Amino acid sequence: MPSFTIHLLIPALLLLAARRFPDKMVFALLPLTLVPDLDFFIPPHRALLHSIFLPLAVGALAWHWRRRGDARWEWAMVATFYIASHPFMDLFAGGVVPLWPLSDQTFFIDLEVLIDTRTLQPTPIFEPGTVSGVPEVSPVYEFFSPLEAAMAALTLPVAAFFAWRRARRVKREIVIVAE
Ligand SMILES: [Zn+2]
Repeated sequence: MPSFTIHLLIPALLLLAARRFPDKMVFALLPLTLVPDLDFFIPPHRALLHSIFLPLAVGALAWHWRRRGDARWEWAMVATFYIASHPFMDLFAGGVVPLWPLSDQTFFIDLEVLIDTRTLQPTPIFEPGTVSGVPEVSPVYEFFSPLEAAMAALTLPVAAFFAWRRARRVKREIVIVAE
């Protein structure tokens, strides 16, 4: 899988940028981006909860609520987007079984560009394909990867610094008001 932080961040940033749905909704439903990977514990992984039928079912609910003028359709719509974004991204990182349980065919898209640093020769790779059977899964789930470490190392000190500065400013304002 692409890292779990990528699964969380990219769809959320897209929704925040679109400014179509309330931020509260965008953040509250964010854990749904990770739900498909629960099939790591209830195999077959990349199939049971990575199939198109899960987002289709939630999408049908959104459509039904929208037609009835039920305001909850927006929640179901964001949920559909989040749940669908996960297998879509996995398609480019190992493949998924979109029609499970009707078919165990794995679909994947290999898309990368390699550059030989000695000749500066770029090698673009674009290989969409399918293989029969569900993807082989390592029993080790890489929850915190070097990518997470790099993001945390950058994010946490910066966030801590701004939180500290803000707390100091608030305290100063209280002192000024008290005078
Ligand atoms: Zn996944």
